[in-house]
Amino acid sequence: SPEEALELKTVMTPVPSSNNFKKIKNDLRGLNLHTVCEEARCPNISDCWGGSDKSAATATIMLMGDTCTRGCRFCSVKTSRKPPPLDVHEPENTAEALSRWGLGYVVLTSVDRDDLADGGAHHFASTIMKIKQKAPTMLVEALTGDYAGDLDMVKVVAQSGLDVYAHNMETVEALTPFVRDPRAKFRQSLAVLNAAKEAKEGLITKTSLMLGLGETEDQLWDTLKELRKIDVDVVTFGQYMRPTKRHMKVEEYVSPEKFELWRQRALDMGFLYCASGPLVRSSYKAGEAFIENVLK
Ligand code: SF4
Ligand code: SF4
Repeated sequence: SPEEALELKTVMTPVPSSNNFKKIKNDLRGLNLHTVCEEARCPNISDCWGGSDKSAATATIMLMGDTCTRGCRFCSVKTSRKPPPLDVHEPENTAEALSRWGLGYVVLTSVDRDDLADGGAHHFASTIMKIKQKAPTMLVEALTGDYAGDLDMVKVVAQSGLDVYAHNMETVEALTPFVRDPRAKFRQSLAVLNAAKEAKEGLITKTSLMLGLGETEDQLWDTLKELRKIDVDVVTFGQYMRPTKRHMKVEEYVSPEKFELWRQRALDMGFLYCASGPLVRSSYKAGEAFIENVLK
């Protein structure tokens, strides 16, 4: 979700210099597309945009506004009970701009919209359908909320033509009530991932966990086992970083070696691929990983 990139605002990143990065940045001008990558000054931008091959480049776009109806304790996104209404032209305009941009892999994410009867599921799905009409070869990942447990809404998105359905667990079960908004529940999030998997044959499901919130090794093992039980294909691990003093504090800075150890463990458990590292966010080099591990 957007917060994970936005929380990275605090991390300054060197100006990337690869040609591909510059080309993508130039292409973006005039398209009126707002990437989380740029707006959050994500430190991974040169990795995600700057590979040698534009067809594997990944960018993250935020849909449905910048104001969330929830307030998770790790997240710096603005909160309101009644955010402004959806922009009905957003699905069409986003698809048009993305097709002109000619990117390989797009991650669509959004704030949670508990104020809308369908949580914004139809708006999300319609954006995906329009992208696939205008740019059939573009790979699309949707990183969604939990639709307050309404699995029919999960199905609407899962059956819209996307390639990867992502929903973030964020943390282990024991810490969930302290980390996420009270409306977000560990079992409910598992049910979302399970419903997405069942909605469409062959759909890749994906989730992300933050480390450094005080979770134990056993709790992490248990979480990974739960995810494998419902056939989640991809998991990513990144370090929790505190956006401001008002947010939860970091309990531990996990070493790069430990991130690598968890990556290996995840692969040994049967996950298809795993990105893991202090600065990794769920969309980190997602295009490259998908092409290498799913298409080949
Ligand atoms: Fe963009 Fe996500 Fe990559 Fe950051 S990690 S540059 S937000 S695609
Ligand atoms: Fe942030 Fe939570 Fe809203 Fe996601 S649901 S944008 S993590 S407050």
